[in-house]
Amino acid sequence: MSVVALEQNINAFDVERVREDFPALHQDVSGHSLVYLDNGASTQKPQSVIDAVQNFYAHDYSNVHRGIHTLSQRATDHFEAARSKVRQFINAGSDAEIIFTSGTTAAINLVAHSFARMGLQAGDEIIISAIEHHSNIVPWQLLEQEIGIKLRIIPINQQGELLFDEYLKLLNDRTRLVAVTQLSNALGTITPLKEIITAAHDIGAKVLVDGAQAVAHATVDVQELDCDFYAFSGHKLFSPTGIGILYGKHELLDAMPPYQSGGEMIKEVSFSGSTFNELPHKFEAGTPNIAGAIGLGAGIDYIQSLGLEAIRQHEQDVLDYATEQMLFIDGLRIIGTAAQKASILSFELNGAHASDLGTLLDHQGVAVRVGHHCAMPVMEFFGVSATTRASLAMYNSKTDIDRLVAAVQRAADMLN
Ligand code: PMP
Repeated sequence: MSVVALEQNINAFDVERVREDFPALHQDVSGHSLVYLDNGASTQKPQSVIDAVQNFYAHDYSNVHRGIHTLSQRATDHFEAARSKVRQFINAGSDAEIIFTSGTTAAINLVAHSFARMGLQAGDEIIISAIEHHSNIVPWQLLEQEIGIKLRIIPINQQGELLFDEYLKLLNDRTRLVAVTQLSNALGTITPLKEIITAAHDIGAKVLVDGAQAVAHATVDVQELDCDFYAFSGHKLFSPTGIGILYGKHELLDAMPPYQSGGEMIKEVSFSGSTFNELPHKFEAGTPNIAGAIGLGAGIDYIQSLGLEAIRQHEQDVLDYATEQMLFIDGLRIIGTAAQKASILSFELNGAHASDLGTLLDHQGVAVRVGHHCAMPVMEFFGVSATTRASLAMYNSKTDIDRLVAAVQRAADMLN
């Protein structure tokens, strides 16, 4: 083997090897070996994450902070080490900028309540895009009703790409916040984040990035992006449910009032008043999801052992293959054909109801999601009530795609 070939071989992403680390992938569903293509909804967990959570409960479990005894100190060390891993994973400037939440939804709500509700006034504007998940739409709509902010929407084209010139037209001196996704869960569109952020900053607006779909598929560097807030969930990152992150720039978080209140987020409490804890604890009222955070740290270790660039390239290769193969199926329309796309393949099949299709695929062991994917405005734009969505993770292979294509073809034959 030549040196170049040897190097390529060493660098090649070994998907079969990766699959071995995920016990849930090795089971039969409806008499067929499972093909798991519902990663946009949630990802499976590697053994190392399962072990980290189990070991914590078996050996080190206690509540964090405040405790003087050994287990409490151990639990605190593991919990805070997980925070540092997150900080390093997204290249935040300090651990104080990493707030543990229960997920992306909670992180966005934190910004909506603390930054926006307390800091914005009637007539101030927030810009979102037409491809947002409901969790990055509804919190802002509530603020429209409650404090009279105005919500403006960046439109999209037929490929599902944001119309950048229209975005620029929406920016004005009343714009306070731009809240956009990095990767659409319904279409797979990758948004031009860097340009969006630069233009927002030029007029003095802050930017919140919904990174729920993006973090598992490409390297995220919040300092390089220069976003003001970045939200994501552990469960889409091969880690437990109930744990998520809000990253925020230190000076912003520091100036923001607490969102929830109670234990842990205070410095001193008396009946004449209370003072608040330092960052990040000011935003972490109550006992946190300690095991979830530790599991997230293990999930990050796992991803980093493979390398996000290698993962990105592998997934792109599988997505390109899937797109090509699916188009051989008569009557199949792919919804979301942006030039910059990752991980998501949404489609509809002539005359077939998405839930019938999903059921027929499940009967062949293929797990996909059907429905509006919490992005009803996207469905409305494309004139459909639902799509069938295959969403990839690093452990999906071209063999999975062959199974998907064969299963869709079979379903199409049955439904016609
Ligand atoms: N935003 C996007 C783009 C998503 O895909 C999701 C999850 N489907 C969310 C936000 C909400 O994430 P969670 O339910 O984990 O809070």
